[in-house]
Amino acid sequence: MQNNKQTMFGWVGTIAHVDLTTQTIEKIDTARYCHEYLGGLGIGLRLYWDYARPECDAFHPESPLLLMTGPLAATPAPSASRLLICGKSPCVFPEHFVSANLGGFFAAELKKAGYDGLVLTGRADGPVYLHIHNSVITIRCARHLWGEGNYAVRETLLREHGSRSRMLTIGPAGENRTRIGIVFSDAGSCASMGFGSVMGSKNIKAVVVQGSGRVKVADPEGVKDIRQAYRSMTGQGYFHLFNKPIIVPGSTVQKKVHCHGCPQGCWRSLHRSAGGSEDIRKCQIGNFYMMWDKQLHGDFTEASFAAPTMANDYGVCAMDMVFLLLWLDRCRAQGIVTQQSSGLDLDRMGSREFLDDVLQKTSCREGFGAQLAEGLLRASRSVGGDAIAIAGDMLTESGRAIAYGPKVFSMSAPIYATEPRPFITELHEICEPLTKWARWHLSGGTQTYMSTEVLRRIATEFWGSSEAVDFSTHAGKALTAVRVQNRQYIKESLNLCDFAWPVYDDAGAPEHVGDPALDRKLFTAVTGVAATQQDFDLIAERLFTLYRCILLREGRRGRQDDTLPEFMFIEREEMIADVFGMYNPELYLPGSGEEIISRKGKAVDRDQFKAIMDDYYALRGWDVRTGIPTSATLQRLNLPMVEDACKPVL
Ligand code: SF4
Repeated sequence: MQNNKQTMFGWVGTIAHVDLTTQTIEKIDTARYCHEYLGGLGIGLRLYWDYARPECDAFHPESPLLLMTGPLAATPAPSASRLLICGKSPCVFPEHFVSANLGGFFAAELKKAGYDGLVLTGRADGPVYLHIHNSVITIRCARHLWGEGNYAVRETLLREHGSRSRMLTIGPAGENRTRIGIVFSDAGSCASMGFGSVMGSKNIKAVVVQGSGRVKVADPEGVKDIRQAYRSMTGQGYFHLFNKPIIVPGSTVQKKVHCHGCPQGCWRSLHRSAGGSEDIRKCQIGNFYMMWDKQLHGDFTEASFAAPTMANDYGVCAMDMVFLLLWLDRCRAQGIVTQQSSGLDLDRMGSREFLDDVLQKTSCREGFGAQLAEGLLRASRSVGGDAIAIAGDMLTESGRAIAYGPKVFSMSAPIYATEPRPFITELHEICEPLTKWARWHLSGGTQTYMSTEVLRRIATEFWGSSEAVDFSTHAGKALTAVRVQNRQYIKESLNLCDFAWPVYDDAGAPEHVGDPALDRKLFTAVTGVAATQQDFDLIAERLFTLYRCILLREGRRGRQDDTLPEFMFIEREEMIADVFGMYNPELYLPGSGEEIISRKGKAVDRDQFKAIMDDYYALRGWDVRTGIPTSATLQRLNLPMVEDACKPVL
């Protein structure tokens, strides 16, 4: 792939490295990285490799925090302006490189200001915020903002810098370096993985950006055509599951809310509660407190609606909080955690006051809140005894929640085994067509066109073989995992929205198969860089293998660490709280021919897991015995810098 800075389209050409300790700003030429790493996660991986020291923990000043846009951001490319945040996460166990992303408008504004990304290192002497006005970056005092919640900080900064400013902010949970602090942004967007706390560890309260530039597009007509084609794929196509506002009991939808450049929107919408409060809700986590609210009050009250807003304000990840509450509830039921030992009024779980108390104590690390601030895995270990087993039944080895797991979908086993933080977006790539298939199966073919035959055709195009959707065999599952991970790493490097990409199925196409090359065509239309599928496949492999090498450099040992939690090998019925399980409680899946199988109560078969992993390493060009990338693979992927660093484990 060729391009040069004089004729650069899509990318704006500069990444700023802000060192908070020395208060210096260095400009990095994007062209050094973009042809081999695209943008977003890809360039983030490479910069992390160059800037991070593996021995530094997540809150060490020298651990870089990367805020990366993609080459399509701030162009008319649809649903392509997300912000990718990556670095060492305090949230996973042990701490490792991970990434998160958020929607809204920040990424597009940063591009309009002239930056493809920001590398943040060091630690300021006191609270600061970054102000970016076009190319000018200033580090400003944030003492007046420190200690404030996210909503108040946003209000103050919008007042000070104008209502068109876009920003990232953190709440008290980030300032106090909990492991579960979020980065909060426009349109109700937020990024998890403790990155708000990494911002806090650098004493950065906010990043405010205002840009007035335009991002050049190589082929505007081509982008327009693709946008048009993409919009025609709605209806019963890809967006069918998600294009209505999320239902929040007791509230009414005021309007849908779209991120920058998103033509159709999704669940994201502005709601008004019965009590008159308004806020944006975008996915099921917006209902995270409902269960306890109803349990306590017999019905949904204002507490359900207020809960996500309260978590956002303190800057606590609502997803992490819901698992902490589930665990607390079970520990309370078994007498492991009591009112006396926790200082929390556990009998009032479900009330607004209880949630406020938990959030306040967690985000300020007060009393028992200091343990909760460590996230569920570490909190359970500090309580000890049966509290560990209760948490262990909900989490991966690295402490992340499980959805669309390998007990149901065998192809997700390598994803869970190789990534400390399995991307929910990877798992969506597996579950979404299968959820539509389940609806087809359960409705006798009346609700969608996603028959077994259509699913097989889609699997052939997107997952590498039609065998991938025969859940009676492990054949094709390793290839599916590789294809899904590779596509994900491209998607996160083009900063495409998960709700919108890839376009698997198309209501208007004769066989209902979507276009797996649409993202690549869009990339070429925006950047003017002609990329073949082989180019993209090679880049995807490079990115995933670099990610693997980063994990190895940070202490992962290869295949011996590529495991699944023990309970995944145990047969038992489990509550399935994900969308697939909600639509399809018997967990039906297609088998061979016309056969339908149920995965309800089933476990991962150890021999099958081993066979899938053998296939997986072979497909990746990693040593099958050790799970370490071979020298030949590193050379083929042009990753010479990782070979030396990985030698101790090679
Ligand atoms: S589909 Fe939803 S989350 Fe994605 S870009 Fe559009 S509005 Fe944002």
